[in-house]
Order: sequence, then structure tokens, then C-alpha cells
Amino acid sequence: MRPNRPIYLDHHATTPLDPRVLAAMRPWWEENFANPHSAEHAMGRAAEAAVEEAREQLAELLGADPREVILTSGATEANNLAIKGAARHAGTEGPRRVITLATEHKCVLESVRDLAAEGFEPVILPVGADGLLDLDALRAALAVPTLLVSVMAVNNETGVIQPLAEIGALVKEHGALFHTDAAQAAGRIALDVEEVRADLLSLSGHKIYGPKGIGALYVRRRPRVRLVPLFSGGGQERGLRSGTLPAPLVVGLGEAARIAGGEGLLDAGRIAGQRAILLEGLRAAIPGLRVNAEAAPRVAGNLNLTFPGVAAAALLAALPDLMLSTGSACTSAEISPSHVLTAMGIGPEEAARTLRIGLGRFTSPQEMQQAAAMIGAAWKSLSQHEAAAE
Ligand SMILES: *Cc1c(COP(=O)(O)O)cnc(C)c1O
Repeated sequence: MRPNRPIYLDHHATTPLDPRVLAAMRPWWEENFANPHSAEHAMGRAAEAAVEEAREQLAELLGADPREVILTSGATEANNLAIKGAARHAGTEGPRRVITLATEHKCVLESVRDLAAEGFEPVILPVGADGLLDLDALRAALAVPTLLVSVMAVNNETGVIQPLAEIGALVKEHGALFHTDAAQAAGRIALDVEEVRADLLSLSGHKIYGPKGIGALYVRRRPRVRLVPLFSGGGQERGLRSGTLPAPLVVGLGEAARIAGGEGLLDAGRIAGQRAILLEGLRAAIPGLRVNAEAAPRVAGNLNLTFPGVAAAALLAALPDLMLSTGSACTSAEISPSHVLTAMGIGPEEAARTLRIGLGRFTSPQEMQQAAAMIGAAWKSLSQHEAAAE
């Protein structure tokens, strides 16, 4: 049984463009292509007004002021700007400690690591087997005066939701800056910069059914958080991010944020139902199947699964119609076990039997029934093969 089109189960890697986002962007590609910084003519001013409307839509999603929204090329850039920008502004005269989590996205871990070379002191906190930060470990790390704490809202491999409000309260109690990478959280869980007491928050267009190549960094104004920009240039985005704003992408990001705010949480209810269909089908077919971080609060679209006796790579090869990823991050040609699973105490052999499944806004119940049947059948055939080989 083959589906008539691929079943897309990799929504953590990227999401499809919502057709409403494409429709909102169209005129800014096809009709008004002006530079939004060209204030001297009407087309430029219209493009600028569209950019500012998008900024308001983003601010609305986060409970922020539009002046606190800095547009970037994506969450990678936003995370680099937040972490390096805040540290470089503070310099090494005051607190030098920068705390983050072992399960962060590589762009956060590498940014923190880069700061070590500049005289800062990185502290990488462990997580429990459930993927959650231990608040006592954070409190202990904060006993040393700290410049910045960066903790992601939702993990991109396991879907684990960190207790951001508790973390934010603890960080602010100790007088440090609080940054959160919300690339996987925006539009999936309720997010409010006041509630979680974030000073800096990153998000990405292509993770919220918006365009690729655009994202944003929330930068708190009261009290004002100061950053050193990554690039030199024309001083756009309040001097924090020089470069011509891509008006069509910005408009698309705004529309994606508007939809995420209005429908994101409704999506979550439906997606959770579809995940239940998939998991029920898989559990019936695969005795001993394990859901990683099952005990932790997780977003609706995520399943991180360890399969008994069968390598994830073999499953992927047997399932060409399912667009899936392993839990492993592939760097260059070499496949090393995922640092996220490793941090949760999952060994390399188990990690090699682990798949990450990501459902999304346009996933259908029929697709989940089909996927469960296909994965179940592939696992059965491969595990019989394995057993025969032994
Ligand atoms: C995708 C992702 C990023 C990187 O976002 P880009 O916009 O692709 O640069 C950063 N952090 C997390 C948690 C992500 O899921």
C-alpha cells in the first residue's frame, strides 16, 4: 500500500507554507517590490507600512511592543544576536557566566561556546531522563553572578516543553538576562514575554508555516536590553540588524504569526488527536516501542520513538513515502548520536534505533492511519529479518 503523495512527518525541520501566508506575500513580490527603507516614494512607504503591520502581528503573538521586535534571517541569527550581542555589550568586566542547557539547538550551544574564546564562562546544564531542566541545578549555577541564561522553550527533537515561567522567575531573581529560543514553541504553546519574563526571545518563520529565511528576535525595552549587533551596515532595525528588509518575507512572517496566534492552540488539540491515532496504531503493531520523554510536558506534534531491535536508518530506507528524520543530527558525512538523546542518558545503540516524528497543521487522520500501518509493517519485516540473521 503506497500513499498517493508523500506523508510529511518532519515538521520540526520545517513546516509547509500556509496558503494564506503565500497569498499575503504575493503582492509584495509581484506588484510592489520597493525597498521598505525608500521613504522618499509612495511604493517604498507602502512597503514600510506592510513591514510595520507584520511587526505588530509578531508583537501581538508574543505580548510585546512592536518596537521590541527585530527582524532577522531566522532563529539561528536571532539566537546568535541575542547571546553574542548581550555578552559583547556587557563585556567581561561584570558577570561572565553564560548558562545554557545540554539539549539546546546547535546554534545556541555553538554561540555560547564561541563566547568562551572571548573570556566568558559557559555553563552547560544537564537535563533529566525526561529532557527537563532541573531547577535546583539552575539555582546552583546562578549562585555565581551570571550574565545570561538561555533555555529553549520547546526542544526540536523531543518536543519537551521547559517550565519557562519558573525558569524566568528564577533567572530574574538572580539579576541575569533571560533568553529563550522559541523556534519550536511559537504558535504551538501559549507564549507571553511578560509571563515568562523573557528579555530576549527568538523565533523562525519556517517553523510556523511562514517563509524560510526570516525570523525575529524580541528585545525587551523596559528595562532596556542592549546588544552589540552582529553586522555593520546601514543601521536598520534600531541599529541591531543592518541590511535591507525582505518585505515579502516579513509580510509572510507577520501573517504566519497572526494565524499562529489565532489558530495555533486549536491546531494543537487536533494534532494531539492525530498523534494518538498514530501512536495507538504503532503500539499495537510494535511491542516494546518506547516514547522518549513521555513523562514530560510535550508539544502535540512530536513523537520521539525508540524501536526495539531495528535501526532507524533501516526503517527510513524501508519507508520512502514517509518524510521522516532520525533523532540523530548528521554533521558532514558522519552520523553521530543526537546530543539531545545523549543528554537524556540514551546510549548510542538506542539512539540509532530512534526516529523523530513531527505532525503539523495539515496532517490528516487518514495519513496517520496509513503511516502507522506502513511503519508497523516495515518494523515487522525488518525485525524478522534481524531475528533470522542472528
Ligand atoms: C529550526 C530551529 C532553529 C534554527 O532556525 P532557522 O530559522 O532555521 O535558523 C533554532 N532553534 C530551534 C529550536 C529550531 O527548531
